[in-house]
Amino acid sequence: MRFASINGRAHLVSPDGTMALDIDRASGGALPESPMDCFSVWRALRSWAAGRGDFDVPVTRDQLDAPSPSPRQMFGIGLNYRSHAIESKMEIPTAPLTFPKFSSSVNAPFGKIAITGTAVDFEAELVVVIADGGRDIPANDAWRHVAGVCAGQDISDRALQFAGKPPQFGLGKSRAGYSPFGPWLTSPDEISNPDRLTISCAINGEEMQRASTDDLIFSVPAIIDYLSSVVELYPGDVIFTGTPGGIGAMRQPPRFLQPGDTLTTSLHGLGDLHHSCVSAE
Ligand code: ZN
Repeated sequence: MRFASINGRAHLVSPDGTMALDIDRASGGALPESPMDCFSVWRALRSWAAGRGDFDVPVTRDQLDAPSPSPRQMFGIGLNYRSHAIESKMEIPTAPLTFPKFSSSVNAPFGKIAITGTAVDFEAELVVVIADGGRDIPANDAWRHVAGVCAGQDISDRALQFAGKPPQFGLGKSRAGYSPFGPWLTSPDEISNPDRLTISCAINGEEMQRASTDDLIFSVPAIIDYLSSVVELYPGDVIFTGTPGGIGAMRQPPRFLQPGDTLTTSLHGLGDLHHSCVSAE
């Protein structure tokens, strides 16, 4: 099942991503119109959606919002690929390095990113959205709690992140529009191996990052096991699972995002994000 927020309403999306079906209308009101209300009835939605092919609305890019547009909680995981930990000259973490991405930073999968300053970086990431939440979810049950996966960008203002000592991650990664993800969720049952997906990103067509998620130090199940051992996960919560090597700050010379750049982020076979970088002024 592919799930999207289109014009603020919950939709199923066709396998090729070109057509959609309004869930509330097609279910005669039995299922929610609000995308955020769908995550708590995900199993019912999945059974209703199984085998449907009656998509009847063309998908238009500028109508798509992030598939979980207003999550209660949004987490980022730092240094979760060996290639990125090494380029950052940091030790491999022994537990998932977790920081908040505040939900006011959610951005749509197609649109603009307002660049604040001269050290704004890109971080292509696999994003997962929680369906059934809870506490103490064991790793071997974790994928059953996932609504779906998609591409994301953990846009990071390095100047703000490293302004003080010690540095802080949360605010520099939570400016307006710094958390785009989408364009839709693909449920794990649609994917032959959800622990081996390819993510990449490019600026103006030049590839900057590419990795397989089987290189994650902490896998999606391990992250969910760890987070839920501390906090309750809620339906619709969003997890940015970490970025691989190749970020702008570690390039020689550094390559930060500038107004005029086009940023493309791909979760291969499962959807791409496209953003134009514009001046924040
Ligand atoms: Zn990140």
